[in-house]
Amino acid sequence: MTNWAGNITFGAESVERPSSVDEVRALVARSEKARVLGSGHSFNRIADSAGALISLDALPPEIEIDAGSSTVRVAASVRYGELGRRLHDKGYALPNLASLPHISVAGSCATGTHGSGDGNGGLATSVRAIEMVTADGDLVTLSRDADGDRFAGAVVALGALGAVVAMTLDVVPSFDVRQRVYEGLPAEVLDDRFAAVMSAAYSVSLFTDWRTSRINQVWVKERAAGGAEGATAAGGRYGAETGGGFFGATPADGPRHPVPGMSAVHCTAQMGVPGPWFERLPHFRPDFTPSSGEELQSEYMVPRRHAAAAFHALGGIRDRIAPVLQISEIRTIAADDLWLSPSGGRDTVAFHFTWIKDTAAVTPVLTAIEECLAPFGARPHWGKVFTLPADVLRSRYERLDDFAALARHYDPRGVFANEFVERYVLGLG
Ligand SMILES: Cc1cc2nc3c(=O)[nH]c(=O)nc-3n(C[C@H](O)[C@H](O)[C@H](O)COP(=O)(O)OP(=O)(O)OC[C@H]3O[C@@H](n4cnc5c(N)ncnc54)[C@H](O)[C@@H]3O)c2cc1C
Repeated sequence: MTNWAGNITFGAESVERPSSVDEVRALVARSEKARVLGSGHSFNRIADSAGALISLDALPPEIEIDAGSSTVRVAASVRYGELGRRLHDKGYALPNLASLPHISVAGSCATGTHGSGDGNGGLATSVRAIEMVTADGDLVTLSRDADGDRFAGAVVALGALGAVVAMTLDVVPSFDVRQRVYEGLPAEVLDDRFAAVMSAAYSVSLFTDWRTSRINQVWVKERAAGGAEGATAAGGRYGAETGGGFFGATPADGPRHPVPGMSAVHCTAQMGVPGPWFERLPHFRPDFTPSSGEELQSEYMVPRRHAAAAFHALGGIRDRIAPVLQISEIRTIAADDLWLSPSGGRDTVAFHFTWIKDTAAVTPVLTAIEECLAPFGARPHWGKVFTLPADVLRSRYERLDDFAALARHYDPRGVFANEFVERYVLGLG
């Protein structure tokens, strides 16, 4: 059994598919080693297990909206695409989504998955409660309101505390979004106007192949509401300033795929056509599900105040990055208080890389990037490929010792501790 990208073959002894929470409890209680596999979209060994790999796909895919508390309770294996459709049908939304809607809610939150937008936290910041089967088979509920700091440790948990069977998420009223793509942003603009560029709309993504001094594409996602946001959507702030362009970039004359030359047929609608949030905030359409991927991914989270300096540092090794790259994306994420969140405690700029699927060629470039970004304390995405030594990674999180204590509390037998967690989180490898 492999992950979505096919670069990881899981070493687990067995794959289990319990069909009820009671079956999950019994399975975990009798397991020496177990991990939950979400939709398998991570690119490293984070999900692997030396014992059982548990898929929760056979549990009922519950989605229960509670209008009174503005929340939705969702089974862990539900994917964002399905959740988005159901929420929108009932008039609700999540504040933000990742680029791909086919990833599971629990797996995404467990790794600190995020979209873009200066004011948007990672997806885990919407979590209000988690229901989790711990190592002895107990079903534990932790909530933001009742469990405070401990809850902040348990949301981005890399699957190390237990099997999350359901989560309760905050929802907001549904909204429409218009997406426009601009091409050829002069990179110098980022030197002194990075903050203006990234705050120009609800969600802004910059795509570059590091081959030229221009940013290939800017994806601008604006809420198509009334009021001030409506004025922006009509071509306000940056439109007026640049005569319909975007800080010197020009509007694309048709739909675009982020990777140069690839068909945009699987991308969400562009050209400013308004549509529901869940069909615009991801870059890729929910109704097209790629079953496997011809790519590897890495991403490094840097304090946003270092955005321009980090961009220049990476530009200094563009001749190493470009030959093994499909495309790079730059996004922003609002700071949060979750202990293991890569955007924890700092407003963040994220430098993402979609690589060719060649681990041997990509690995030395990762090390070079990590050296470039070291002065900025870059934190790698938990679910993507990186080479950072464990002690360096660990030095970039203040609450790792607290997290290790939380893991000992919920998992004293070390059932959920795999090699990845032991090395990077518990400091045992
Ligand atoms: C094409 C593509 C696009 C992507 N786009 C983005 C993006 O825009 N932004 C971003 O930040 N990331 C992105 N990612 C990375 C992705 O969001 C993460 O790897 C995420 O963890 C995937 O969720 P998953 O359900 O597949 O998790 P898996 O890879 O299956 O598991 C990840 C971790 O979560 C744990 N886990 C899963 N389910 C549970 C559960 N129920 N209980 C306890 N632990 C659990 C696993 O044990 C493992 O440790 C992308 C990945 C791909 C392949």
